[in-house]
Amino acid sequence: MTSYDDGNIFAKILRGEIPSLKLYEDDTAMAIMDIMPQSKGHCLVIPKAPSRNLLDADDSTLAAVMPIVGRLARAVRRAFGADGVQVAQFNEEPAGQTVFHLHFHVVPVYAGVPVAR
Ligand code: 5GP
Repeated sequence: MTSYDDGNIFAKILRGEIPSLKLYEDDTAMAIMDIMPQSKGHCLVIPKAPSRNLLDADDSTLAAVMPIVGRLARAVRRAFGADGVQVAQFNEEPAGQTVFHLHFHVVPVYAGVPVAR
């Protein structure tokens, strides 16, 4: 498997080198709005640990991030009046991953409006 490269966009966002619309941050993760949202309110939860994706993430990273994913899903559902929420996650290029730092998509879904991805 390819190793982690700290030149990826999310590593730069975590280090504050490029701007983002930040929703939440603690010692373990940051949540930001996605720059190309698949639906109104699409955001991302990005653990701070340097994992490429789920395939090399350790248990403590995953244990820390899932409560944040849950809280964010509930918050965006309320804030945007969504009818449901998708949580998506892609590992390696053939599976659709484009930024090689572990992240979780939180995508509000609106009845009758298909999500692009
Ligand atoms: P992936 O395809 O790796 O699962 O998802 C990467 C996501 O990161 C995409 O939804 C894309 O729109 C988002 N993204 C890419 N570059 C940036 C950026 O510079 N800022 C933010 N906020 N999102 C980004």
